[in-house]
Amino acid sequence: MLTDAPPRKTDRTGFLESDRIRTLDLPQDRCLFSIAQSIESAMKCETSGDVRRLCTQFLSAASEFYQVPNCGVRVLAARPLRVRERGTFELFGDYDPETSVIRVWMRTAVRKEVTSFGTFVSTLCHEFCHHLDFQKFRFPNSWHTRGFYERAAALYHHARGTPLKRLFWVPMTGGRWRIDWQRTNRGA
Ligand SMILES: [Zn+2]
Repeated sequence: MLTDAPPRKTDRTGFLESDRIRTLDLPQDRCLFSIAQSIESAMKCETSGDVRRLCTQFLSAASEFYQVPNCGVRVLAARPLRVRERGTFELFGDYDPETSVIRVWMRTAVRKEVTSFGTFVSTLCHEFCHHLDFQKFRFPNSWHTRGFYERAAALYHHARGTPLKRLFWVPMTGGRWRIDWQRTNRGA
């Protein structure tokens, strides 16, 4: 995972704010966890109608908790061949800030392999965090900052019922950062 480069002039304040906010309030109940469990079963049975319905449930429960307007969701069978999300290629989903619609796909474009459940939920949380950036934090844009990835990770681990890992970052050129997975997985 690699962060976006900071914008040159405009929007810099929003970018720095997004980078700074490293945590996300999480619901006290297990609602998102149990919906995610159901998504896993539906994916195993490849019942895409159920996956679609459960994704809608997941996102509206999350929107209610964060007190933001609902976002739409489209669960596609396969990934469109070319998708570009604000300069970065997102492998398994995207979010349109104009329409507040999240798209996620259950299969990869080329080999038509089923996306793993972990990746699928991670994508859903990632795209929902773009929605939160606009609707909750009111950022003028939704950048992939360190804070963004950490907020998305917090939501993802909450949804999966797994412990949150501390993320370790390595500086790259141009003000970008990448995750040091070795240190992150070691936890030190
Ligand atoms: Zn993204």
